[in-house]
Amino acid sequence: MQQNHTQLADDSYFAAVTNAIRTETTKLLSEGTVAAVIGYQAGTRAGTVIPTIITDAAKAGDLVFSPGCVNNLALYLTKAKKEVRPAGKVAIIAKGCDMRALAGLLGESQLKREELHIIGVACVGVKGAGAGSGEALTTGTIARKCRECTVRAPEGADVVVGAVPPLPEFSPVEAEELARLEAMTPAERWAFWKGHFSRCIRCMACRQVCPFCYCEQCLCDRNRPQALETTPRPAGNMAWHIVRAMHLAGRCAGCTECERACPMDIPLNLLNRKMARELKTLYDFEAGLVPVEKGPLTEYREEDDQSFIK
Ligand code: SF4
Ligand code: SF4
Ligand code: SF4
Repeated sequence: MQQNHTQLADDSYFAAVTNAIRTETTKLLSEGTVAAVIGYQAGTRAGTVIPTIITDAAKAGDLVFSPGCVNNLALYLTKAKKEVRPAGKVAIIAKGCDMRALAGLLGESQLKREELHIIGVACVGVKGAGAGSGEALTTGTIARKCRECTVRAPEGADVVVGAVPPLPEFSPVEAEELARLEAMTPAERWAFWKGHFSRCIRCMACRQVCPFCYCEQCLCDRNRPQALETTPRPAGNMAWHIVRAMHLAGRCAGCTECERACPMDIPLNLLNRKMARELKTLYDFEAGLVPVEKGPLTEYREEDDQSFIK
């Protein structure tokens, strides 16, 4: 059955945001406030975008902002990508969900706030998997994460561009999906994840694209001694996904880049969301709202509940 979808923002909206980003970039680079700006430029196919780093004010016109700006650019500030960090202060274009990653990285001392100039984008949303590059941003093409976004207005940026227009109510598809997972028995849940993880080919794209997977050597790559089996077989796959989930619990910013990068359509963000809900329930903690040095799973207090130790 054909569904009618509502357009959420038109070309003039994105053109205005693009112009504001270009103006800010020109000012920052020509005044020498920053050495580089990390943003988006048009890709090789119409309607696509790719991350870029601009160091010359004359190139500010290359920057764009569109519903295709899915990448979380915070990735390019981490240790794992240190080769792209220029000498000097750097500006970065950040949507609200990217801001959560920046807050997490600041809290973990991976970044210094005084070395950053954050150009926040008040965000209507970006397009999700399956949306064509030429399609408009509508209630049908919007990314799943954007349907339940609570951080459209980025907080803590040096400057914010754009203004979010009124948006319709989205149907609670994501909440229903999480509720279905939570309603499963432990055995059903194990079978659910085992089925999904059996498809994993261990390409590690989910790790490479995550701003919080910044270790210079991942435990999962070690072979002397080997911590985890590295070939895509059931036991090693399950171990990898448990390590990944636990390592990111209380840190994941919910940018969904891992799920977007996964070539095997594994619902990684469903697991991320489940872990985030556990952290909220157990510790009243949400990652990335403010920079904190240690999340609940890395901080120990003597008065902590010890009853789980048998
Ligand atoms: S989750 Fe929110 S801030 Fe992030 S892209 Fe979607 S609407 Fe924008
Ligand atoms: S685990 Fe996925 S959703 Fe969470 S911060 Fe990393 S890439 Fe983003
Ligand atoms: S991106 Fe997907 S297939 Fe690749 S390692 Fe991650 S979960 Fe497995």
